[in-house]
Amino acid sequence: MNLLEKVEELSGQNLYACYQCGRCSAGCPMVEQMDLLPNQVILLVIRGDQSVVEAKTPWICAECYQCFTRCPKEVDIAKIMEALRLIKLRKNIDYIKLGELKNLPQIALVAGARKYTG
Ligand code: SF4
Ligand code: SF4
Repeated sequence: MNLLEKVEELSGQNLYACYQCGRCSAGCPMVEQMDLLPNQVILLVIRGDQSVVEAKTPWICAECYQCFTRCPKEVDIAKIMEALRLIKLRKNIDYIKLGELKNLPQIALVAGARKYTG
């Protein structure tokens, strides 16, 4: 299964629906911290470019669904970001080490464990 098929299976999204209008990226509140714009993530997955799996953007995504509300094709990018995180976490590569985190409220630790560790 190639990268596009994997992401489509995990996210339930049709990435070819995207026509790269950029409305998602224009409204994303996290875009300044990202190394790839949300619409660029889609393009790289379609091209099968594995560098997207190593990008920061899927981990920075706050899953706020702003992009989904702006997308004329109803592409749910938060689900695509989650699929990319899962592809990495399923290789047993944790994105953060929980033991090194200190002075965080319990709810942040639980949320961090769910999002950033496999
Ligand atoms: S808003 Fe939708 S169609 Fe436009 S670039 Fe983003 S995902 Fe693609
Ligand atoms: S769900 Fe993620 S990519 Fe979409 S607008 Fe929010 S932070 Fe940006």
